[in-house]
Amino acid sequence: MPLSKFPRFPLAHLPTPLEPLDRLRRHLGGPRLYIKRDDCTGLALGGNKTRKAEFLIGAARAAGATAVITEGGLQSNHVRQTAAAAAKAGLTCHLVLNRNVPIETAIYQENGNMLLDRVLGASVHVCVPGQSRADAIARLLPALKKDGAVPYVIPTGGSNEIGALGYAAAALELQRQAKEAGIAIDRVLFATASGGTQAGLVAGMALAEAGTQVLGIDVENEADSLLVEVRRIAEACAASVGVKRALRDDAFEIRSGYAGGGYGIPTPGMIEAVGLLARLEGIVLDPVYSGKAMAGLIDLVRAGQFGADETIAFIHTGGAPSMFAYADCF
Ligand SMILES: *Cc1c(COP(=O)(O)O)cnc(C)c1O
Repeated sequence: MPLSKFPRFPLAHLPTPLEPLDRLRRHLGGPRLYIKRDDCTGLALGGNKTRKAEFLIGAARAAGATAVITEGGLQSNHVRQTAAAAAKAGLTCHLVLNRNVPIETAIYQENGNMLLDRVLGASVHVCVPGQSRADAIARLLPALKKDGAVPYVIPTGGSNEIGALGYAAAALELQRQAKEAGIAIDRVLFATASGGTQAGLVAGMALAEAGTQVLGIDVENEADSLLVEVRRIAEACAASVGVKRALRDDAFEIRSGYAGGGYGIPTPGMIEAVGLLARLEGIVLDPVYSGKAMAGLIDLVRAGQFGADETIAFIHTGGAPSMFAYADCF
């Protein structure tokens, strides 16, 4: 196993299920649809960041850390899963949060992931207006060190070549499941935002020498800069797991057009997608990521972009806890 040389702290319930979306498929027509249930990774309501956290917390422990610091918006799923991972590993956890979405409701600011961060025992630092998260972290670090802590900083979304290992492993897991089920997956679709999920999938598919297309759906209208970041992380991750050949240009693809007014801003397509998956499949998506990515999948199927003989796997990256912060949209 090419990934066994990396320190890894077990957190996730793996493998996550790969399930057919038969009722959605009948509703839409078109390709065979599966869903990879990474909302079921198990840690503190699950999600994609748990796979990354296994390697990031592994690295933190190997470095002798006693504390982790990470950052995100108020409703960050990454931050919530990191708080849970740190709790399980016995590390103190500091979360540096900013108001990156212009939603002022009390539920947005206090419910959903914000509520869970506090329940999970993390110290929550909210940036003052005008302060960057980087500045807040730069102030926090020396204070923690002065108190004798050994802090380990995890970047936004856990997206670096260490966190991406979680999705390189997920790509191998998905190929194994597809083989066992006797299917070949032509494409995987999922929400892409800080890039680590996509980068890890690209590296993992290259490692598996699989012909599966990795197609990220942009959820924040930042596809050009994100693509640069995905490539940088994927190349570092691929090198560290021993991919010999250079990654091909066409391995990197992000589809835009589904982010509406930007990150965290609801769209009609997202509301439709969340409703369809709930009523046809009993699956709860989320308003920020998987709902917009599923809106993309639905639109591409309706536009006839995929052949009826294709098999597509949507990765449900989690995020349902933020439904409670967006209750007034539904
Ligand atoms: C963070 C997140 C994503 C995006 O993953 P990245 O690795 O940041 O691109 C997708 N869906 C959910 C629910 C997330 O929390």
